[in-house]
Amino acid sequence: MSLNLKNKGINTRVTHAGENPDTVHGSVGVPIYQTSTFKFQDADHGARLFGGEEKGYIYTRIGNPTTNTFEEAVTLLEHGYGGIATASGMAAVSSVYMAYLGAGAHMVGTDAVYGSSRMVIENEFSRFGVESSFVDTSDLDLIRRSMKPNTKMLYIETPANPTIKLADIEACAEIAHEHGAVLVVDNTFMSPILQNPLDLGADVVLHSITKYINGHTDVVGGVIITKTEEEYSRLKPVINALGGTMDPHQSWLVLRGMRTLSLRVQRGEENAHKLAEYLEAHPKIEWVRYPGLKSHPQHDLAKRQMKGFGSMISFEVKGGVEAGKTVLNNVTIPQLAVSLGGYESLIQHPASMTHANIPEDERVAAGITDGLIRFAIGTEDVEDLQADLEKALSLI
Ligand SMILES: *Cc1c(COP(=O)(O)O)cnc(C)c1O
Repeated sequence: MSLNLKNKGINTRVTHAGENPDTVHGSVGVPIYQTSTFKFQDADHGARLFGGEEKGYIYTRIGNPTTNTFEEAVTLLEHGYGGIATASGMAAVSSVYMAYLGAGAHMVGTDAVYGSSRMVIENEFSRFGVESSFVDTSDLDLIRRSMKPNTKMLYIETPANPTIKLADIEACAEIAHEHGAVLVVDNTFMSPILQNPLDLGADVVLHSITKYINGHTDVVGGVIITKTEEEYSRLKPVINALGGTMDPHQSWLVLRGMRTLSLRVQRGEENAHKLAEYLEAHPKIEWVRYPGLKSHPQHDLAKRQMKGFGSMISFEVKGGVEAGKTVLNNVTIPQLAVSLGGYESLIQHPASMTHANIPEDERVAAGITDGLIRFAIGTEDVEDLQADLEKALSLI
């Protein structure tokens, strides 16, 4: 009897998706097919594979069994039609742009989107005649006003980084489709455990696997998942030709990391919720942004479209940049580093680090103030994290 995962819960899916692809030896662990090319049985077989009359592997940039196992597993978690693994999160983002945008096209995106996702449009795609409007996508009227007759794509990140502002995915899908555009959602911050944009009307969802899905701060990777066969057929040849595909060893590592995704996400969220409440009540804290707090302006939307609130918190310490630096330099458990979604806590200062390349007025207008601290919470004991923060805050 083979296992049908379609009617199983998310924890069962994460545990078993893509298991036993080895029909020769029956290995329980997924084998690494470390090969660049595949031998044809005879000349006709090769011709049938190239002609698409028969399924099979040809060349690893186009497809590989280890990578394919990972793609099928993550597609099952996002409730999609098909998945395409990429060398990095940015390879996923730029390949999606390449597939849907061209000379004369316009796209609307979240203003506080991942830095490179905006930079590659404004600095590179602009050279090929692609226009863009990056706006506050928590404001649906502003999105509507930004759509043009040539808008081909609405690209959102929710929650956005590091403002923790949300975009209403269902409403965004409606606006995009009214204008004949695709809705693409970068779901990195939520992982497939906490949010499934394809169920809410998105056409394409993508992840930086570097973050929650791999979760061990040791691999860079990305994945694109489409809702339909049509979108998959649009994207797959673009990625095959551009060449930003994932390699078999990388695929094996991320599949290994993904097995504990739901455990890590659940634990991170429990920790984040407690720390957000602790910080909000602290006299030395100016404000805390976390979708799980009632003080979050979009707390109701968070409850509606997310299955949990995640483990990313932004906060500002009273006393501005200097006080913030005291915290960053005196915590001992969270490491001072960019990135997020790993098992360990990381802390950073966006205005001088991840978002330093955005002009100051635009950065502040997008809600990324000078004193904002971004805290990616890991799976440590929450009591230890809280005591560590308390000690650092006491030094202000
Ligand atoms: C990290 C990140 C990316 C880029 O992914 P890489 O794996 O670093 O290329 C894109 N979007 C979001 C939200 C990210 O956090």
